[in-house]
Amino acid sequence: MQRCVGVEILLRWHNPRVGWVEPDVFIPIAETQNLIIPLTRYVISETAQKLHLFPKDSDFQIGINVAAPHFKNGRLLKDLHQHWFSCHPIQQLTVELTERDALHDVNYEVRSDLGNHQIKLAIDDFGTGNSSLSWLEKLRPDVLKIDRSFTSSVGIDSVNATVTDIIISLANRLNIITVAEGVETLEQESYLRNHGVDVLQEFYYARPMPVEAFPAWLASQEATE
Ligand code: MN
Repeated sequence: MQRCVGVEILLRWHNPRVGWVEPDVFIPIAETQNLIIPLTRYVISETAQKLHLFPKDSDFQIGINVAAPHFKNGRLLKDLHQHWFSCHPIQQLTVELTERDALHDVNYEVRSDLGNHQIKLAIDDFGTGNSSLSWLEKLRPDVLKIDRSFTSSVGIDSVNATVTDIIISLANRLNIITVAEGVETLEQESYLRNHGVDVLQEFYYARPMPVEAFPAWLASQEATE
């Protein structure tokens, strides 16, 4: 049986002149303008204000994407104290860090700080960056999010499917939870499930939705179980 175990918080930008702007467009711009950290701080505090929209369950996962420079000099923890913990969340926060940046800015000390605050660390888009498997063993993230390119290779590209199998068995051996990104078909779902992926994400289950629409969506899921 399947159930919804959590959400990932995503940003959309409504520009009055051009309408809805996709994150692929505005995130790189925000990066060049040094606006990523304030933007993430905004996401953290907005989400904390809306925790009542999510199940009051300590196992319910809320994923927030955080850029690597935010981890430096304790800035992220400071922001979490100010904007997240101050709201006394019951749900489980997972910070998602893109793999290509992770090696430079997140060391073991940052990692254990997060752990001490009961925050989970996920490596986002795993398999696309400069992954060092020895580093994975040292840092021990709680979650590996397997990049969508591996999910879309199911049934199509046997080389990538083999890499997917290796990532899954490595994560299982290190007791790291696996999340498959970009699941869109029943074939992908059954393959990934049969190969031991813990959590499946994306359009096959739900399109991105405004956070206010989430309670009704969740209720409709539970009604069809
Ligand atoms: Mn993510």
